[in-house]
Amino acid sequence: MYDVIIVGAGPAGSATATVLRRKGYQVLLLDKAQFPREKICGEFISPEIPEVLDRLEVLQPVQEKKPWEIQGILISSYQTVQFKLNFPQVSSRGVPRADANFQGFNMPRFILDEILLRNAGRAGAEVLEGFKVVDLIFQDDRILGVKGVHPEGYRVEFKSRLVVGAGGRNCVVAKRLNLHAGYRWLRKMGLMTYFKGVQDPGRYVEMYVNPPGYCGIAPLGEDLVNVSLVVDLDAIQGYREKRGATVKPQVSSSGPKEGDLSDYFLESLFKNRLVKEKLEGARMVRRLQGVGPLAFRARRCSWDGALLVGDSAGFIDPFTGEGIYHALRSGELAAEVIHEAFKANNFSKEFLQRYDRARTQEFRRKFRICHALQHILYRPWLANRVARSLARDSVLKDWLVPWNP
Ligand SMILES: Cc1cc2nc3c(=O)[nH]c(=O)nc-3n(C[C@H](O)[C@H](O)[C@H](O)COP(=O)(O)OP(=O)(O)OC[C@H]3O[C@@H](n4cnc5c(N)ncnc54)[C@H](O)[C@@H]3O)c2cc1C
Repeated sequence: MYDVIIVGAGPAGSATATVLRRKGYQVLLLDKAQFPREKICGEFISPEIPEVLDRLEVLQPVQEKKPWEIQGILISSYQTVQFKLNFPQVSSRGVPRADANFQGFNMPRFILDEILLRNAGRAGAEVLEGFKVVDLIFQDDRILGVKGVHPEGYRVEFKSRLVVGAGGRNCVVAKRLNLHAGYRWLRKMGLMTYFKGVQDPGRYVEMYVNPPGYCGIAPLGEDLVNVSLVVDLDAIQGYREKRGATVKPQVSSSGPKEGDLSDYFLESLFKNRLVKEKLEGARMVRRLQGVGPLAFRARRCSWDGALLVGDSAGFIDPFTGEGIYHALRSGELAAEVIHEAFKANNFSKEFLQRYDRARTQEFRRKFRICHALQHILYRPWLANRVARSLARDSVLKDWLVPWNP
């Protein structure tokens, strides 16, 4: 019997495991993947993250991998207005960011997530990779553990006092409890790949808002960039109907070829002349991967004997590049509440609901900004107007930028 079983070893699961182990709990951390593993992501590590990495004692190993340090975000609205948001020199918790330790950077998730996972293992969490959780163990409504498929192929059950759902957007814990709900009005899909041979990757993450959605270019090295595109699922559906049914919204292809989403991806990117100029002479070097619909919410993040952390607790849109921060920080918050639950010997949803409250309190402003952006981004006149105001007005800029105090 474990104290806590964590389903999913992305940033949320690994952070939760590390903090709980440090508090002395017996933790089992399960992931269906073998690490290192790839992840669909813009790979922008926002300026708030290094502080969390520092607390988790992984900042140094991360820095040793020489991530691509950046100074801020460049935003381009409908090829009309362009401005830069530079990272503030003081973090949201008042820590000076004068030295590079506390700046934002870009880093492949392939590397970052493995560092976080191994760190949880070093802290004493029992880590089982290649283990797919398929169901939960219930006693009435209370969750008492998980059922899954061992890497060697046999079925096995593990029991615990608490289960943490950290399985991302398709988290089996949330699904089994029927806690996820979609947004009817917000049906986007994210596509990502790498380009090599970029002349000047620069020190900014560049966000280009332009039909049919927006594109993010995040430099990862001297001539390597991560390119992500977020588009309407209906636009993909329209393309699919035009080209025949071979194009599926869930895509994972090996490169550009007639009739698959790589064609659509490249066509959409190069509709924007600024993106075309940026990627002039560069070539796509990683299979195109996609995920959608992007937005969903959790009706609640606590249950009798269970909590949801990271994406499993809900996701809106990657524009603000805050997903990894939310994953790490929600893991820390959950670990604190779990510690209190053990002290009180109370694992009821009424008690664990204090995690929902702490999470809402901490992220309310960020969630609002994220929602507001969905109403702004896809209306060119409004997006340009907001962009112009932001370019001019530093007070508004400070308020809107999610990583500002
Ligand atoms: C297109 C796109 C671009 C993005 N860009 C950025 C960005 O630039 N910066 C940023 O901060 N965020 C970005 N995000 C968001 C970010 O990727 C997520 O918020 C983050 O990965 C959430 O971490 P997590 O630990 O909650 O989940 P995940 O990273 O998804 O980890 C979940 C883990 O659970 C495991 N798992 C799932 N199901 C099971 C199961 N049944 N059994 C066992 N294991 C299981 C998976 O293998 C996985 O390892 C982006 C998202 C998208 C879609």
